[in-house]
Amino acid sequence: MNVWRRLSGPRRTLALAGAGVLVAGGLVTIPVTAAQAATQCDIAYTTNDWQGGFTANITIKNLGDPVNGWTLGWTFPNSSQRVQQGWSATFTQSGSQVTARSLSYNGSLATGASTSIGFNGAWSGSNPKPTSFTLNGVVCNGGTGNPTTPPPTTAPPTTAPPTTAPPTTAPPTTAPPTTAPPTTTPPGTKVDNPYAGVRGYVNPEWKAKADAEPGGSRVSNNPTAVWLDRIAAINGTPNSSSNGAFGVRDHLEEALRQGAGYIQFVIYNLPGRDCSALASNGELGPNELPRYKAEYIDPIAAIQSDAKYRNIRIINVIEIDSLPNLVTNTSGQAGGTVMCDTVKANGAYVNGVGYALAKLGAIGNVYNYIDAGHHGWLGWDSNFGPTADILKTAAVASGSTVNNVHGFITNTANYSALVEPYFKVTDTVNGQTVRQSKWVDWNFYVDELSFAQAFRTKLISVGFNSNIGMLIDTSRNGWGGANRPTGPGATTSVDTYVNGGRIDRRAHAGNWCNQAGAGLGERPRANPATGIDAYVWVKPPGESDGSSSEIPNNEGKGFDRMCDPTYGGNARNGNNPTGALPNAPISGAWFSAQFQELMRNAYPAL
Ligand code: BGC
Repeated sequence: MNVWRRLSGPRRTLALAGAGVLVAGGLVTIPVTAAQAATQCDIAYTTNDWQGGFTANITIKNLGDPVNGWTLGWTFPNSSQRVQQGWSATFTQSGSQVTARSLSYNGSLATGASTSIGFNGAWSGSNPKPTSFTLNGVVCNGGTGNPTTPPPTTAPPTTAPPTTAPPTTAPPTTAPPTTAPPTTTPPGTKVDNPYAGVRGYVNPEWKAKADAEPGGSRVSNNPTAVWLDRIAAINGTPNSSSNGAFGVRDHLEEALRQGAGYIQFVIYNLPGRDCSALASNGELGPNELPRYKAEYIDPIAAIQSDAKYRNIRIINVIEIDSLPNLVTNTSGQAGGTVMCDTVKANGAYVNGVGYALAKLGAIGNVYNYIDAGHHGWLGWDSNFGPTADILKTAAVASGSTVNNVHGFITNTANYSALVEPYFKVTDTVNGQTVRQSKWVDWNFYVDELSFAQAFRTKLISVGFNSNIGMLIDTSRNGWGGANRPTGPGATTSVDTYVNGGRIDRRAHAGNWCNQAGAGLGERPRANPATGIDAYVWVKPPGESDGSSSEIPNNEGKGFDRMCDPTYGGNARNGNNPTGALPNAPISGAWFSAQFQELMRNAYPAL
């Protein structure tokens, strides 16, 4: 993951600082003249540029012998040019040299066949197009440097014209099909709370990592969720940094063996995933909804609907961070991104979530909980209501109905305190409401429990069933240890009162990556409070949120500076330090130092 689980308060209306106007993208076509090589290719490289950023679309046409697997290479002319988030290929960049490697489904190119890939990038100064490309090591233009269409000479403006129009990538105009998927298993009778009265599945792959840490066996028997963070995870990914060799079926078999009553999966592979951040960008490009359905959701549903597993309550946590991003991180908002605009405009998130709900919800023993952000992201009424609305829109998209939604989860992979024991949102100091403090920043909620309960009421009011239940991810929101306050702050001002008493010790509630000082929270349990089905550990403690510096990898994981402890932040975290731990590996990979700290600062203590 991990997205901007960000604060988006009254400042959300700020114009997109520095956002420039769209510069007409150029097209450069590089023809083939490399007669000596069997590999011949034609590359069309087009960009939409704006101040500091761009989206590139690249069409590769194979004019030579058929290829089975390709690597496209080029050198950016300007040293500032960077690939930030790519799709339909695995991108790596070293200095100015970029390679894009084919994926399993687009590696074969017959003679005359084309395929398209793309990426979002950054530049400063100017954004000239590469003048030469190689395909499998052979230069596409034969080294003549004479493209048929000269690259455009217009450099993007260096200062933003007086417009706040955000950059846009043209979304496809055709909406994806919305036909209801077939019901694979006759619906059974679902219990009201699938967590109640049964034992949770302990993921042996996470348990092994926890057990390998000194003291880890104190917590390793807790149920944690299994993240299906790529198509390959359905059958098992022995080579990924986050997951292991177990696929969905292996986990279900092991759940039978354990006699587990419930198992938790995270459905996390939407087209254009993690659209507002970089650390958990996924494998599917924004236009790959058909692949999401056919290659990801359908095979998961096929396994989950196997009658062999009918007595296990299968809980699916649906698409972390996705729908709230469409509310808070699109055009015209501080920090809005092109990718969020794209997936909002093309319906990828809404229709993808709708499809997942319909297909998985049709299975009698499957329970869907949709991700619903957290209080430090959605707690302002400007975000609260619109998010409830878009959750409803998704719940009835692609042939789904609200009956496919068993509930919602908040705080997934975040650090927001469950309960702030030493101040409430209704408190005042010297006649001033604590909502005015810098930390609360006019939010209507100061902790997750109050937020989750209120959001549940809101969700019912927009049309969800009245028996929905909430989950709260308490894996890393314990905030115990030596720095935990033991009473309210001084009543000198709202700020001394709130800052002295709050147990959430982050610099800002918009900080989301590998937070220093955090601890394990409430252990997973059912029915902990009114309206709450369970406290759960969905983010497996010890798994990183993102690398603290750029680490080349072939898992599509980018580098997000919110994971860099030396970064001073941006508008989305009030320009505060990130509070991230140093030396973190890429998202999902085991981060021993963090696991040790989480155990030290556990609350309740271990
Ligand atoms: C990563 C996934 C990982 C998950 C659980 C996410 O941030 O992107 O690869 O499985 O966290 O650790």
